[in-house]
Amino acid sequence: MLERTGIPTDDDLEKVIPNKERLAKGPVVIIECFQKIPCDPCAISCKLGAIKPFKDINDLPQVDFDKCTGCGICISSCPGLAIFVIDENYSDEKSLIKLPHEMLPLPQKGEEIYALDRAGETVGKAKVVKVLKIKSKTNIISISVPKNMAMKIRSIRAEDKRNG
Ligand code: SF4
Ligand code: SF4
Repeated sequence: MLERTGIPTDDDLEKVIPNKERLAKGPVVIIECFQKIPCDPCAISCKLGAIKPFKDINDLPQVDFDKCTGCGICISSCPGLAIFVIDENYSDEKSLIKLPHEMLPLPQKGEEIYALDRAGETVGKAKVVKVLKIKSKTNIISISVPKNMAMKIRSIRAEDKRNG
């Protein structure tokens, strides 16, 4: 249960994940924000209007997936680290995930890092494709992952190099 664990259920996720047809068209945002709190920077971050204007500051974000290009600009606007972009067309075997990342030092492009699920459990390795440093805001890391992991991986952890 989300309220108790902080981890969204399949039912929660079903409400925010675009349908298969939209996912197949290329990069698209997924906003995993489920609790009504007074917060709205995402609503003004998208210059294409893909995140619908809030009527109330406690609203949950609503996305017009047809307007979203998957640019990822909104990712760094979210203090809750709840915004991701998924590109299921990245390659024949891999999907691309753009995700928020605040830990330092930042990983490097080309580095292999641990991929974590929504519970923070390690579920495999991923390759860093791009590192976008955003001044005074959350950085955006792009990683490539096996296609069947694109809806599971939501954060990363650098490999601990202290033991070799
Ligand atoms: S990924 Fe880009 S186009 Fe899509 S909602 Fe975010 S800012 Fe808008
Ligand atoms: S900025 Fe993040 S936490 Fe705030 S409403 Fe938008 S998605 Fe939710």
